[in-house]
Amino acid sequence: MFLKQYFGEIYGAVKSLLTGMKLTGYYFTHHKEIITEQYPDNRATLVLPERFRGEVVMLHTEENTHRCTGCTACELACPNGTIKIITKFEVNAEGKKKKALDTFIYHLELCTMCNLCIQACPTDAIKMAQNFEHSVYDRSLLTKTLNQPGSKLEEGVE
Ligand code: SF4
Ligand code: SF4
Repeated sequence: MFLKQYFGEIYGAVKSLLTGMKLTGYYFTHHKEIITEQYPDNRATLVLPERFRGEVVMLHTEENTHRCTGCTACELACPNGTIKIITKFEVNAEGKKKKALDTFIYHLELCTMCNLCIQACPTDAIKMAQNFEHSVYDRSLLTKTLNQPGSKLEEGVE
């Protein structure tokens, strides 16, 4: 009785192993039929869902203009201090002093991708980008300046 049960279990284990190996062997010789792919092998064809949030970025035109007035609404909306807006004063065509963006500092390492800053921006100056490969060895590289060097406020944006 004991021996029957013992050999029965061995038989069951070997049968189960061979069943699995049969399927593995099939896909080993039929690569084109594999429908699942592991990242990063599928990086070139990777399609992320439309709503995927990877990083806050500032939009710039080809003329290097942006739509950020430096109003700080995004900074105030951010729940964890990820954004720091540094402003400056510029003299406009009428000779009046006007507040303008100097530096938009974004701490990617703190960002929870909650989207509150994007919703708070009255001029649609920032948006969520889908890039997600953010790993770096130096943590300071995750602190970014979002306004490009030499960029200016787009005309007509108040
Ligand atoms: S997505 Fe959320 S956490 Fe990230 S900067 Fe915007 S408000 Fe802050
Ligand atoms: S990104 Fe938008 S909300 Fe933030 S400072 Fe600029 S204009 Fe204001």
